[in-house]
Amino acid sequence: MTADHAELIDGRALGRKIREQVAAEVEALAGKIPPIKLVSVDVGENPASALYIRNQKRSAESVGITFQHVHLDAVTPEDEIADFLVGLSDDPTVTGVILQRPLPEGVSVRRLQSKIHPDKDIEGLNPANMGYIVIGEPRLVPCTALASIRCLLSTGVVTHGQDVAVIGHSEIVGKPIAFLLLNLEATVTICHVATQDLNEHTRKADVVFVAVGKPGLVTGDMLKPGAIVIDIGINQVPVVDEDGQPVHGDDGKPRQKVVGDVDLESVLPVASHVTPVPGGVGPVTVATLLSNAVCAARLQHKDVVGEPNWTDAI
Ligand code: NAD
Repeated sequence: MTADHAELIDGRALGRKIREQVAAEVEALAGKIPPIKLVSVDVGENPASALYIRNQKRSAESVGITFQHVHLDAVTPEDEIADFLVGLSDDPTVTGVILQRPLPEGVSVRRLQSKIHPDKDIEGLNPANMGYIVIGEPRLVPCTALASIRCLLSTGVVTHGQDVAVIGHSEIVGKPIAFLLLNLEATVTICHVATQDLNEHTRKADVVFVAVGKPGLVTGDMLKPGAIVIDIGINQVPVVDEDGQPVHGDDGKPRQKVVGDVDLESVLPVASHVTPVPGGVGPVTVATLLSNAVCAARLQHKDVVGEPNWTDAI
């Protein structure tokens, strides 16, 4: 593809391929190790979490992974949630634990996440798993970070020696992406809200990752021609007509759509590859939770089935 029009990275197809690989691995492991089982815990009422859990269940079961949802009341004391997570970590029939966010106000996500055994932490958020990434031996990696790297590598690019700008430095996305890229021998610049001149960093980058949550943050004039752009942002914006007026649905409410952090119109003529939103990093993230479940099973039964190798994961 020439730089006149970027190729869209097809996250749905990539997610499908990963799910097929997971299904084949689950089948190959059957009988050798206990069945792979995930437990997803949510605390309090949250419609977005409820939808997310239903989707997780459907996608886990579609690849032969057992899925259990446990709902805890919003007033459950933090110590009780912590004890529950420790119980799941000690339960040999449980392969992976997911702690849904958001948690009720005042409950420490970080403390609870560290109660999930690192080998069962399929969201890759236990500080021990972050540490493994930093020392260059990733085990269970945060799903969105790994999915973003998978999107990049699906273009066939060789990261060794490439200049990469990562915009956003959260624990869950930006930081693990940056360290994974260092492990792949890229030269990485991490930008964030206090970065003085974003353009200065993005214009010299062969690859730009953006995970901020600001629609239109990355525009074509900020990019080196031929750059690869991985858009991780998820934003709800109003649908507008040709005159810029809000469009209303049949229910009379203003219609909304999901967009990323990239201004696609100006970026498409400059970049070589871009992940669309929706249909880019998102579906790969969902599939990566499942591949992490297989990775967790291998970590727990490495004597029988051999240790996972993170380079196999990408
Ligand atoms: P966060 O709020 O924890 O971090 C945002 C980051 O953006 C911070 O590092 C902040 O310094 C930086 N930032 C803010 N304004 C900036 C600016 N003007 N210029 C440069 N940097 C700026 O967010 P997060 O949890 O990392 O999520 C980021 C985005 O990714 C959100 O839109 C979120 O919805 C999305 N997300 C997507 C997936 C997925 O699967 N695709 C998963 C998780 C998060």
